[in-house]
Amino acid sequence: MADNNHDQRKNDNHKARQQRLKEKVDEKVANAKSEGGVFQVITGNGKGKSTAGFGTVTRAVGHGLKCAVVQFIKGTWGCGERDVLEKLGVTFDVMATGFTWETQNRESDIAAAEKAWQSAKQYLSDDSIDMVLLDELTYMLSYDYLDTDEVIEAIKSRPSHQFLVVTGRAAHRKLTDLADTVSEVRNVKHAFEAGIMAQKGFDY
Ligand code: ATP
Ligand code: MG
Repeated sequence: MADNNHDQRKNDNHKARQQRLKEKVDEKVANAKSEGGVFQVITGNGKGKSTAGFGTVTRAVGHGLKCAVVQFIKGTWGCGERDVLEKLGVTFDVMATGFTWETQNRESDIAAAEKAWQSAKQYLSDDSIDMVLLDELTYMLSYDYLDTDEVIEAIKSRPSHQFLVVTGRAAHRKLTDLADTVSEVRNVKHAFEAGIMAQKGFDY
């Protein structure tokens, strides 16, 4: 009997708490502005930034949105997502250079970054594109390969309905200030630290 009373009280408390929560959420939903192209930055040192960016593009494609991807660092390996998403009509532009920490020619890196940026800029001014993913863009700003203010201006003046996802470590303060949503992926541990190499299908 005592147990029953205890359970009843717990249930009542739970119900009251959920009711209060629901009221708060309903109020937020009622006050929220409707549609609009959200700008998200996915940064931090943990694994999962690019996969989250591609996941968002996949979600958008599933709803029939038109998407474009620019990859600012080209690995020495391919990218599994590209093979899938290109078949579904997603446009890809990949920077024509290897990982920046492997290249030693600043001049040719900058030229490659500029070329990729021209594509990005075009997408950011194209009304017909619903979502743009600029994968690893953050490095172009921290290496000073691209002009930060020019990038910020292009992002600000993109079509109002256009979603934008930017990934990469150490995002510039101007990017995170401008973004509507900023997520930081924290490295708790990574297989590579235990000597496990990057593997096809899991890391790229
Ligand atoms: P992913 O593409 O798997 O989502 P990411 O975009 O978060 O990773 P990047 O910094 O772009 O991470 O690095 C890409 C590559 O480096 C991947 O092969 C990934 O497994 C590896 N990597 C990511 N984070 C770490 C880390 N903390 N330590 C070592 N390697 C990492
Ligand atoms: Mg990445």
